[in-house]
Amino acid sequence: MKTRLILLFLFFPLLIFSIKTYTYTIQSGDSLEKIAFKLNIPLSIIIDYNPEYAYRKYIYAGEKLIIPEKPVYVYSVKSGDSLSYIAKTFFSDASLIAEYNNIQNPNLLYIGQKLEIPYEYIGLSFNRNVAVSWPVWGELTSLYGWRIHPIYHDRRFHSGIDIALSEGLPILSAVTGKVVEVKKDRGYGIYVKIKAGSHYYIFAHMSKALAVPGEIVKKGELIGRVGSTGISTGPHVHFEVRTLADKSVDPMGLLPGFKYAHVPIEKHYMGGN
Ligand SMILES: [Zn+2]
Repeated sequence: MKTRLILLFLFFPLLIFSIKTYTYTIQSGDSLEKIAFKLNIPLSIIIDYNPEYAYRKYIYAGEKLIIPEKPVYVYSVKSGDSLSYIAKTFFSDASLIAEYNNIQNPNLLYIGQKLEIPYEYIGLSFNRNVAVSWPVWGELTSLYGWRIHPIYHDRRFHSGIDIALSEGLPILSAVTGKVVEVKKDRGYGIYVKIKAGSHYYIFAHMSKALAVPGEIVKKGELIGRVGSTGISTGPHVHFEVRTLADKSVDPMGLLPGFKYAHVPIEKHYMGGN
């Protein structure tokens, strides 16, 4: 029994992420951005492995970070997922993901299976040719405006739109802008707030935030993972747009039609090293 417990502990990190990791000790003068640059790994991946650092105001020399050896995101397959659905939500391509993960038969995914999605495969079909892009590819479950609240069952104003999809899938920044807040809120759960032009963009109910305050993110960059934190009935993104005077506006007025969520895959990933 004792031996079994020890084995469980030994293998626990492997169960969370199947990727080999190493430890990086924070040096004086480091910032998370500097570390990402130095180790040549996207900041969002560093936060994915060290999620509490999304909320840290300061980091200190001597603290240890877990760093994966490969710049990949691990996605755990959920009930009802298919490879083409997962690929679409990563704005990627199913055959690329299948090949990378040595999947011979894409119909034989199992629940809990860990898929490795290389950073460079994410956002290949993300629409950059519009001012504001869809942050996720999911099912629009609630619009902006007055509604009967799904939990409180009374008439309340819904200050954003809700898009439902599986827990753990990526949330991509809808705009290029500056991250101004990363917080855990009772209602919004874990959220990231980005300032771009004359609006704030809020992505709420994340399972994990993958951005840090002060960071400049580009449209299509990963800023979080889908979750159901805060007051929520299931995994979804509450996407909210506010003016700088803090008045909510209908995001549908800024977003392109949902059929413009995806664009033909950009081919820059071909070749190279
Ligand atoms: Zn909502």
